[in-house]
Amino acid sequence: MRKILKRAMTFLLCVILTVSCISGFNLSEAEAAEPIVVVIDPGHGGSNLGTDYLPIPEKHYTMVVALYMKEQLEKYENVKVYLTHTEDIDMSLEERAAFAAEVQADFLFSLHFNMSISHILYGSEVWVPSTGLLYSQGYSMGNEFLNQFEEMGLFNRGIKTRIGSKGTDYYGIIRQCAIRNIPSIIVEHCHVDNSNDAAYLQTQESLKEFGVRDAEAVARYFGLVSKDGKTDYRNYAPLAVPVPASRVYNDSTPPVYVGANLINYDKTGKYATVELTALDGESVIQYYSYSWDNGLTWSPLQPWIKGSPTMTVSVSMSYGKKDNLIFKAYNLYDKSTESNIIKLN
Ligand SMILES: [Zn+2]
Repeated sequence: MRKILKRAMTFLLCVILTVSCISGFNLSEAEAAEPIVVVIDPGHGGSNLGTDYLPIPEKHYTMVVALYMKEQLEKYENVKVYLTHTEDIDMSLEERAAFAAEVQADFLFSLHFNMSISHILYGSEVWVPSTGLLYSQGYSMGNEFLNQFEEMGLFNRGIKTRIGSKGTDYYGIIRQCAIRNIPSIIVEHCHVDNSNDAAYLQTQESLKEFGVRDAEAVARYFGLVSKDGKTDYRNYAPLAVPVPASRVYNDSTPPVYVGANLINYDKTGKYATVELTALDGESVIQYYSYSWDNGLTWSPLQPWIKGSPTMTVSVSMSYGKKDNLIFKAYNLYDKSTESNIIKLN
């Protein structure tokens, strides 16, 4: 009887020990939950001005937005935020990635503002690593950023890879982070040289909104909870992006076909309705433009309906020679193809 009792006691003790061990493990795991480490990299700095199309160079905008992004992100629990630099200094891309590695970054965000040589492009875009899990993570994160910018009214120019002549990622910060196995993206908030986007840079409030939106994207992706308990993204599901089997290449060729079919032409009103078709096997169509002076001058870029091969457009011709109408469609990588010519007389 005593033996049985002793055995029973031993068993009970084991059960108690096991249960306390399990719950103890859970407790200590929750307590020791590693914070998410975010590194914000304000693009350029020091003698590297970045885009200097405006009187104030890009390096100024990237720093202002980075500081707002940090301030906003620090309103969340369980996140540690660093800037690669806070002074206006020269810093190589390798040094920035090395800094991220040193603080064991979970993600690096390189903040930028864009400009195009032709000055015709507008909108926001995100550049991501071209291989493996880094691609998936970058794409999913980039999607959060672009959703935020779209809500601000900016045109979504998509998520892209770019491969250099050596067959690896073209952009140094992405390449340097990839070597260190750190997920990274380049965020091109908008174009400083296009009237569509210029307003977004003109006030401190709008720059702050970029910083707040950047932080919002990161908070959603990592499922953060705000310190005041008002925002809880623990159940938020960012876009699931499968890991690609091989390197994801950029589209280096223009759309394969662009066709324009006149539906109606109002001679007195000089008003044409045209059905456009644009095909590209490698990337989506993003903009179109038109010319009625044989391609001498072109309209500002118009947004193409996302994912659609065709769209019906109306063109109002108010100046110049109005005999021929030509269209151009642009793909995700800004490569364009001209349509057939529509003779209006
Ligand atoms: Zn830049």
